[in-house]
Amino acid sequence: MVKQSSAQRIIEIKPVSDPNVKVYPRTIRGLFNSWRVAFVWLTQIVFYGLCWLPWNGRQAVLFDLEQRRFYLFDLVLWPQDTIYLTILLLISALALFLFTAVAGRLWCGYSCPQTVYTEIFLWVERWIEGDRPQRIKLDAAPNSGKKVAKKTLKHGIWLAISLWTGLTFVGYFTPIRDLLSGLSNAGTGAWEIFWILFYGGATYGMAGFLREHMCKYICPYAQFQFVMFDRDTLIVAYDAQRGETRGSRPKNTDPRATGLGDCIDCSICVQVCPTGIDIRDGLQLECIGCAACIDACDQVMDKMNYPRGLIRYSTENAVEQGFARQEIVRRTFRLRPMLYLAALLIISGASAWSIATRIPLKIGIEKERAVLYREGDNGAIENSFRMHLTNASEQARHFRIEVSGLPGIRVLGNDLANVPAAGMQEIALTIQAEPGSIGSGSHPILFRVIDAADPAIQIEQKASFWMP
Ligand code: SF4
Ligand code: SF4
Repeated sequence: MVKQSSAQRIIEIKPVSDPNVKVYPRTIRGLFNSWRVAFVWLTQIVFYGLCWLPWNGRQAVLFDLEQRRFYLFDLVLWPQDTIYLTILLLISALALFLFTAVAGRLWCGYSCPQTVYTEIFLWVERWIEGDRPQRIKLDAAPNSGKKVAKKTLKHGIWLAISLWTGLTFVGYFTPIRDLLSGLSNAGTGAWEIFWILFYGGATYGMAGFLREHMCKYICPYAQFQFVMFDRDTLIVAYDAQRGETRGSRPKNTDPRATGLGDCIDCSICVQVCPTGIDIRDGLQLECIGCAACIDACDQVMDKMNYPRGLIRYSTENAVEQGFARQEIVRRTFRLRPMLYLAALLIISGASAWSIATRIPLKIGIEKERAVLYREGDNGAIENSFRMHLTNASEQARHFRIEVSGLPGIRVLGNDLANVPAAGMQEIALTIQAEPGSIGSGSHPILFRVIDAADPAIQIEQKASFWMP
């Protein structure tokens, strides 16, 4: 028998839940729910809080598009540093590949913004409208003052959360304190208002209405991640060998005596599922790996005095072949994840080394083109240059400019430059060389800029000197 890959099997499975049927996830408590709640708090404390953190007299994390500078704590990135942002994207992609190959959809189930905001919106919904049965009843009931009041309150809180989320998002691109004071005195720019409303509206629509449809039909990651799955990837799995034949029975019934499996067909695993699927139908595209069904089924197993784990985190191979936990862990170290890990470690290590040894000084030199050379009062030949110095550190720095490469070459006049913290300075330079020492035409020279206080910080740049 030829075994299919996970991707092949899942592609063949069509969405089993009807997109027109609204999903009312039932409240569930348990180990994995606690983890999910913890991740909601953790991610949101970071997201809502980080933009308020001051650092060196500015915002610790700020993507200042207007000034074209990205601040990440002590690191100041300039447009010339976009290589680091590219590497960051590459590292994120590799980390996602590694994580998905090993742990499946844990990102989707615990940390994806769609999951996190849907969870927050569900907390509000449950607090106002009640648990699954009450919400179904309320939606089916005719309009009344009480129903309108509940819906208005729910949407009001959702909108408040959404707008604050939009404001926070924009606060990573415009200093959040300036943004807030601008809003209070009508001084906020049109683009900022647009992005606050856009991001806030997206949060409201995706977490309040689209919910599981985002994961099923829109999210590209959900569509392609199964390519990274194999039969040893961690998934939420129903143990059909143990559970079937399913059927209801009185508590404490020994299923072996009745010819039944351990599944009592209570459907609670379906009722708690945020995407409205039945995990007993096997691995499905819609399963975000949130483990709500594991918590639900474990509680049912406890009540029936059956062992936990009828639904559990496992792998396809482990469920089919009854692997012990050690074998599941051992198979984590298979070739594909190890290749991702090796690439991740090499790229992360190289970029960490590059950032740690980075010289916080950038230089650009332009030769004045209109006049290639001229003769000075003393008969020396002069070339004019424009030097752009960028101080990528957060202290003002004083630099000494030197030039070499030709006999007697020197900087005429002031050879010092003061560049403010995280600032730029443009300097007009006149360079002199002795005539007759070399032939006519272009000759390579070397500029060297040295930090007066710390000579270890220096940078060189080649240029051309023209002689008559
Ligand atoms: S919760 Fe467990 S016992 Fe109940 S239907 Fe689902 S798998 Fe079967
Ligand atoms: S099947 Fe289980 S793990 Fe998958 S989305 Fe539904 S509740 Fe979450």
